Amino acid sequence: MSRVAYVNGRYLPRSAASVNIEDRGYQFADGIYEVCEVRGSRLVDERRHMQRLERSLNELRIRMPMSPAALRIVLRETIQRNRVVDGIVYLQITRGVARRDHAFPVTPTRPSIVVTASRLDFEKAEAVASEGIAVITVPDNRWERVDIKSVSLLPNVLAKQTAREQSAKEAWFVDDQGRVTEGSSSNAWIVTRNGKVVTRPADHSILKGITRTVVLDVMRAQGLELEERPFTVEEAYAAREAFLTSASQIVMPVVRINGRPIGNGAPGLVASALRRDFHRHAEFS
Ligand code: PMP
Repeated sequence: MSRVAYVNGRYLPRSAASVNIEDRGYQFADGIYEVCEVRGSRLVDERRHMQRLERSLNELRIRMPMSPAALRIVLRETIQRNRVVDGIVYLQITRGVARRDHAFPVTPTRPSIVVTASRLDFEKAEAVASEGIAVITVPDNRWERVDIKSVSLLPNVLAKQTAREQSAKEAWFVDDQGRVTEGSSSNAWIVTRNGKVVTRPADHSILKGITRTVVLDVMRAQGLELEERPFTVEEAYAAREAFLTSASQIVMPVVRINGRPIGNGAPGLVASALRRDFHRHAEFS
């Protein structure tokens, strides 16, 4: 089956889909994106992902290229045409095509939009989660507005590559005070020895993950105690558990940080229970 991408109003074979070389997304990473989980052919937490999308666009003063209702249809159509049952839908909007000049185009451009959908191997993901993953830490060298879900991801790309070269699945960024901000494509969490769940407040120093928001609801329902504050790498080493969250990984237990086992070196009870209950608290549409 050939895969299909939606590009500026047309559904194209993915291999033939392309953007203009003067697209500002290509030239300057002048754009934003969203990744939404698809489960059982339905979108997970679409409403919140679309709210964050609009916020990111507003922060960068990029227009929404189509109405929210039309976008809902495009997302579904792309999922269907790719026959994705379990996977993700990816959506990117850039400021559009203009002659290369750093400042915004004088004549407003039509924003470019691309939507793709990909399958994820559900069973493989469960197998990874049952083992847990290794994480390394790297200095956070990003700009101050990582709360905007911009396609400008070079530090994240380099961090993830460093992780891969050290046989780890994720890199956690660490600020200049030795405190973890977030992962290169996920939010970071620990569970302390006395059972408190700790994650950094969603200020400008992290992306406010949609999975993070839903996990806070799951935690409340499970009666878990939350401490929304930064934690250090030292604290993470001494934690009972660690885990990360993202739309494509849901809740993923972290069993090693910089080669040191966390807790007993196996996925923790809290992370496993949050993963198990996650979709009961997510919105399906
Ligand atoms: N932080 C970063 C840097 C990310 O790229 C992601 C994944 N998009 C997240 C956090 C988690 O966000 P979400 O739960 O909405 O996928």
